[in-house]
Amino acid sequence: MTLPDILHFALVTLHFALLSQTFQKTNQMSFQIDCPNCGCRPVWEYHYSGPSRKRPEGAATERQWAEYLYNRPNIAGEQTEWWYHRSACKLWFLVRRDTRTNLVLETRRFDEAVVPEKSEGAVQSAE
Ligand SMILES: [Zn+2]
Repeated sequence: MTLPDILHFALVTLHFALLSQTFQKTNQMSFQIDCPNCGCRPVWEYHYSGPSRKRPEGAATERQWAEYLYNRPNIAGEQTEWWYHRSACKLWFLVRRDTRTNLVLETRRFDEAVVPEKSEGAVQSAE
């Protein structure tokens, strides 16, 4: 582990410790996610990693890769997302969530993943 890695880890740990204290002191509503491994836990135990999308395949152009990597959809409604349980089991898994209400509709392990074909910002082939 390099010094930048250690500093990054320390800052992330401090950030989430402060965030946790804020929620405890203010009694603000948050939401919980049902980890497929650990069960229901507060959201601050997890890392959000963006919506699940279909990767470009075959001879994808640079433009298609750039679109996939940098232009994430910003959906107001249901979307399937990648989450990481960083404070416990270290499992990557999928969450189907309504972004308007933070209501978690479903969670499933990554090996049960079915990536939607066209919805949620799937990369379209340029012609
Ligand atoms: Zn877990």
